[in-house]
Amino acid sequence: MRLRQLEKVILYDENVAGMVNLEEIADYLREKLGAVPSVEIRGNPFNPYLARSADFARKLAAAKIHDVTRRMISETVPLYGEIQYEERKILGKTRAFGVLYDGFRLLRVFAELIPPDERGLGLVHIFLTNRLFVTWAEDQRYHARTSVYGLPSIISTTGLVEAPAKPREYYLLKQQYEMLGKDILELNERFKGRCLGCEDSRLTPVMKGYVMQAVFYALSGDPFCQDKGCKLYNAHWQEELIFAQLESHSEFCQRHAELLAGWRQN
Ligand SMILES: [Zn+2]
Repeated sequence: MRLRQLEKVILYDENVAGMVNLEEIADYLREKLGAVPSVEIRGNPFNPYLARSADFARKLAAAKIHDVTRRMISETVPLYGEIQYEERKILGKTRAFGVLYDGFRLLRVFAELIPPDERGLGLVHIFLTNRLFVTWAEDQRYHARTSVYGLPSIISTTGLVEAPAKPREYYLLKQQYEMLGKDILELNERFKGRCLGCEDSRLTPVMKGYVMQAVFYALSGDPFCQDKGCKLYNAHWQEELIFAQLESHSEFCQRHAELLAGWRQN
């Protein structure tokens, strides 16, 4: 397989500082990728465009999904309050993350934030965001996603917690907890070893693997691996995610470890 040469990997912090350690993730990339490409961290990607914040706020609000069972075909006209909420988020006045977005529309909004002289294929733009996004699936509803890989790639801290399914027992117990009016936090605590939580210190090591998926997408067009012990495994369950990212004895399967080593030498 012929892998693309890369010039630079750029990590954007869209309200994820405090949830993940970006410096640690950048250092991890430097260790895995070698001296070239360079790795850069950028803050709020909307900062260079604050004069256009109302325009971007409208686009973000229009990417919102209101009903996960109804496919959004054409763009909806957002309400004034929804646009205001997005503008506050762009300006860093709120870090709230209760809204669902269409993943591909969100990707298109983020794509507009990439400076025109940095749109070459050797540049890898990865937006780390706390926004939760969904994509339409074969079962005719939207499902939350951890990431969408493309130009740019976007990875959601909230998605890492919410998108892969928790163990089946969790959902059964959750119903019981709700019926009995018990505290759901206690349930989350019970499943800590098998599920990621918000403000979980494991989000940083987990994010390293997802950033590597984005890098492999840029290198080869394929971010995923079938091997359940490889960081490129596309986990659909929390337990699979925890195994692939944290518990597997090796970071990458032999094939991907060799691909990476061979590419680094070039
Ligand atoms: Zn692999």
